[in-house]
Amino acid sequence: MRKALIVGGGIAGLSAAWALARRGVAVDLFDQGPLPNPKASSYDEHRIIRHAYGTMEGYAALMPEAFRVWDSLWQATGRSHYEACGAVYFLRHDNGWYDGMARSLDRMDIGYRDIPLGDVAARFPMIEERGLLRVVETDGAGMLFPIRILTDLVVLLGRLGVTLHANTLITAVDPERGTLIANGRVHAADTVIVAAGAWAERLVPSLHGVVVPSRQAVLYLSPPQALAEAWSRAPVMLDLAAEGGVYILPPRQGTRLKIGDHVFSREGDPDGDRVATDHDLERLWPAAQAVFKGLDEYAELERKACFYMVHEHEEFQVRAAGAAGYVISACSGHGFKLGALMGELVARAIVGEIAAEDLSDLAAGRVMAPAWERAA
Ligand SMILES: Cc1cc2nc3c(=O)[nH]c(=O)nc-3n(C[C@H](O)[C@H](O)[C@H](O)COP(=O)(O)OP(=O)(O)OC[C@H]3O[C@@H](n4cnc5c(N)ncnc54)[C@H](O)[C@@H]3O)c2cc1C
Repeated sequence: MRKALIVGGGIAGLSAAWALARRGVAVDLFDQGPLPNPKASSYDEHRIIRHAYGTMEGYAALMPEAFRVWDSLWQATGRSHYEACGAVYFLRHDNGWYDGMARSLDRMDIGYRDIPLGDVAARFPMIEERGLLRVVETDGAGMLFPIRILTDLVVLLGRLGVTLHANTLITAVDPERGTLIANGRVHAADTVIVAAGAWAERLVPSLHGVVVPSRQAVLYLSPPQALAEAWSRAPVMLDLAAEGGVYILPPRQGTRLKIGDHVFSREGDPDGDRVATDHDLERLWPAAQAVFKGLDEYAELERKACFYMVHEHEEFQVRAAGAAGYVISACSGHGFKLGALMGELVARAIVGEIAAEDLSDLAAGRVMAPAWERAA
């Protein structure tokens, strides 16, 4: 029986394990912390999922397949952790985002429409209207609930016979031999996959300088009571400004209202704690003040820090590495929605369903018409 070793129990590693186990591969999965691990970038109450990617049209082209992989996960676990609440984009600046979004959504037959600026105050009383150029509502979007997804995946993997090694730090990987070292012991297999999130460069030296750990801050808030009803029907919201802007996840299905910004810090040590400091929040506060009306009336519930791995052009690094190795470094701001697909694609490459050399272009969003779309 074919055997694989996986480093990392975030969405990428767990999804790769699931995809391989379904294909009859024996899998051992290792994480330095508990499974799931609260320090993983994947571990949070919610993540945005959407088809609209503005000028990054190659990523938009991956989204139908990404949604199919999520749907097959809901079937396997017996419950969905997706809420299709739609997305609304508040444009205060447009560097081609609208045209790219329109081209992609037309190609995929996903609906979108303008919201007249005169309707914004009534529909979105929490949002500052001054400075808005355009407001666009899109279908095919909503939120995923990652903590619940990771937990279900860990349980599913146990059921499928995957050997789970929690609290096991991997200190070295040899992608030529398909080996790794855990607690001083060498494990060997046909393939070793590194899906180590913000720690990946420590095990894969070729990633050093190509992707950079980037500590990011988010705030959880409780809205004033007067806005509770408006928030209960709010979609996912993205405010696009010249300086990057802010994303907003409304409180849904027992999760809290969360805001974060799009500007990369490109600093920080992933071993550090996950409590956002005043320094971490330096950019987010003013950005949020510019977007929300009356932000001072919201109660702060938690300040959290989390990590991206930032590539200069936001391209995932997912590829074969050595004769028996693969790396999945898809830990950017769109790495959760696409994380399950990235694990699936690596599994397809390992068992020969797709060519390994096609992986990196696909994962980097450089393919406008992936093979499964051409075949459909
Ligand atoms: C604030 C924030 C908001 C985000 N919002 C969104 C969003 O709305 N939509 C979206 O799609 N994406 C979003 N993302 C990105 C997304 O969450 C990440 O890209 C994705 O979760 C990364 O998953 P991963 O499996 O690659 O890494 P991780 O989830 O970090 O998993 C890596 C795992 O590897 C383990 N590991 C590392 N090194 C070792 C070792 N040596 N030995 C053993 N184990 C090891 C770690 O403990 C960890 O559990 C956001 C990220 C952040 C930080």
